[in-house]
Amino acid sequence: MKKRIAVYPGSFDPVTFGHLDIIGRAAKIFDHVIVSVFVHSGKKHLFSVEERVEMLRRALKGRKNVSVDCFEGLLVDYVKKKKTDVVIRGLRAISDLEYEFQIAAVNRTLYRHIETVFFMPRVRYSYLSSSVVRDIAHFKGDVSKLVPPCVVKAIKAGRDK
Ligand code: ADP
Repeated sequence: MKKRIAVYPGSFDPVTFGHLDIIGRAAKIFDHVIVSVFVHSGKKHLFSVEERVEMLRRALKGRKNVSVDCFEGLLVDYVKKKKTDVVIRGLRAISDLEYEFQIAAVNRTLYRHIETVFFMPRVRYSYLSSSVVRDIAHFKGDVSKLVPPCVVKAIKAGRDK
């Protein structure tokens, strides 16, 4: 039987418990989940692509059907290259819907076979975003309830530089 592969794209700057919640749910339904960091040179990031990939790898260590990658360019081209047509996205509050709806519709215009599958995180993570983590980190707050230990460590290391 054909393997059901899905791509979960995002900035993951940095990965949070919200992202990990979505990955866990997707990994139960798909045979393989490729978590892929989107390389966007025009956007300012807290962590480099390499750092974000490394943190995801650490946070997902031991998960047999999840791999971590990065990509540049159009998502539809990347998805085709990975021989799938399924994209995973997370939906937090209603506020995510308009943006996600637009991206999903545009991707479908570019590649009619693409399907975007949305997962809802547990309620406690539905208000969590990477930007909230970056803001708290900026003011030296405690992010240990929001991100995995490898990210807490990386934030501390960045601060001590
Ligand atoms: P992007 O810049 O592509 O939005 P993010 O890393 O911010 O990248 O998010 C990637 C995906 O994960 C998006 O679909 C986003 O809605 C979802 N996501 C982010 N944080 C959470 C969370 N706390 N719960 C559920 N989904 C989330």
